[in-house]
Amino acid sequence: MIQLQNYINGSLTTPISNEYLDNYNPSTGKVYSKIPDSDHRDVQMAVDAAKKAFEAWSNTSKDDRSAILYRISTLIEQNLDRLAEAESRDNGKPVSLAKRVDIPRAAHNFRFYATAILHFSSESHSMESNAINYTHRDPVGVAGCISPWNLPLYLFSWKIAPALAAGNCVVAKPSEITPMTAFLLSEICIEAGLPKGVLNIVHGYGPKVGEAIVSHPDIPLISFTGGTQTGKHIAQVAAPMFKKLSLELGGKNPTIIFEDCDFDKMLNTVVSSSFDNQGQICLCGSRIFIQDSLYDKFKAEFIKRVDGLKVGDPKLETTNMGALVSASHLNKVLSYVDLAKEEGGRVLTGGSRIRLEGNLEEGWYMEPTVIEGLDYQCRTNQEEIFGPVVTITPFSTIEEVLKMANSTKYGLASSVWTNDINKANYISKKIHAGIVWINCWLLRDLRTPFGGVKQSGVGREGGNEALQFFTEPKNVCIKYN
Ligand code: NAD
Repeated sequence: MIQLQNYINGSLTTPISNEYLDNYNPSTGKVYSKIPDSDHRDVQMAVDAAKKAFEAWSNTSKDDRSAILYRISTLIEQNLDRLAEAESRDNGKPVSLAKRVDIPRAAHNFRFYATAILHFSSESHSMESNAINYTHRDPVGVAGCISPWNLPLYLFSWKIAPALAAGNCVVAKPSEITPMTAFLLSEICIEAGLPKGVLNIVHGYGPKVGEAIVSHPDIPLISFTGGTQTGKHIAQVAAPMFKKLSLELGGKNPTIIFEDCDFDKMLNTVVSSSFDNQGQICLCGSRIFIQDSLYDKFKAEFIKRVDGLKVGDPKLETTNMGALVSASHLNKVLSYVDLAKEEGGRVLTGGSRIRLEGNLEEGWYMEPTVIEGLDYQCRTNQEEIFGPVVTITPFSTIEEVLKMANSTKYGLASSVWTNDINKANYISKKIHAGIVWINCWLLRDLRTPFGGVKQSGVGREGGNEALQFFTEPKNVCIKYN
């Protein structure tokens, strides 16, 4: 059995409690590793190490910081297969998805910020002939980074890379459900020569380790990705200390399909945007709205494609959907199917747990599920399910679909399918979302801001937004004689 360790002050360390938690392989439903059951004492050690390392790291030249991040990126790439297999085993996602998306994007996060920091410069303005005014940006000190289980290394590195590039030291906590690739990242950071104490990774439960990070007086900034409820709690804990916060939270994203779209391209992408990663991507389109003239054709073709998805062993390259991340999450998702039926929905396909054969029998697999006949205001259409369950709903006019699409408390992403540029432009202005994809989904350019409105979050990640978040501006005005 693999036993993970914390990464504190440059070394792999046992938790002070000397206790370990079970970590499950979702594809088999069996325990396969043990992770540190850390607490506030481990967080304190991590903060002490980070504070000690800060002076030297923040004064390390950008070139030298960049070189280390670049080395980390290269090592992630060199370990692509090993990391992808670990991610798949820990999370239940198909290894092919981890190889294609999660791990390359994690490497890209480090490489991108290794370069971006070199171009992140102060602003200066001449004032009168004998005065100059400039603003430089300082790292904040120790940054706290907390991430979820759905895209483990990808989202973990998305926070850590800009934080380190900007000269901060970091105390980070990956999800206790998917800790493995964060642990492997510790080994990579040691190999890359990251100075000790610059990055510290503490494993364990959210209310114990995460809360100790959020409430620690020496951590002035928190970058959090996870559920909206947890985000609300974190905001409450952080508010009296006036901490700087970035919150990337839940979504209930609309996919809007107009009759004038390119049908085949749309269908291919909408199958992915509904069921990639078992529907466990915060950006998945779980509410599909189809213009009524296209509804019957879409329904028939979509169901045919969904029924062709192969749910199976995540290790096989031929698998389209692996296992859901945990038993409790599977039960939560299944309970939403029951709720949808109570609310008057018709399950067109799916709706049940799947028992595979052999050692996969206890794995947490579920059929991809499509439901129709629900009111847009019912709970199934308002609450985040975060699994392989989508609803389909017809609409006739733009105003009607906008009303339905904008009716939830969330506003993360949206995907709109039309060949009419004017319609696309109008909808992109009116929709409540931080991201609007037109005739695509999940295309991501790290230079652009990422994040949501309403209860999908506060702040933006990516590009300069992240470097601005992880630094404080200081304006200096010099008057010469
Ligand atoms: P979660 O909120 O349960 O946990 C996220 C992280 O917070 C974990 O590391 C957890 O241990 C920690 N945590 C839990 N309680 C805490 C506390 N009291 N104090 C500090 N930390 C605490 O979320 P999850 O179930 O891991 O992830 C799924 C959610 O994440 C979904 O709602 C999904 O939409 C959201 N998500 C959002 C984005 C985005 O970019 N907006 C991306 C991915 C996932």
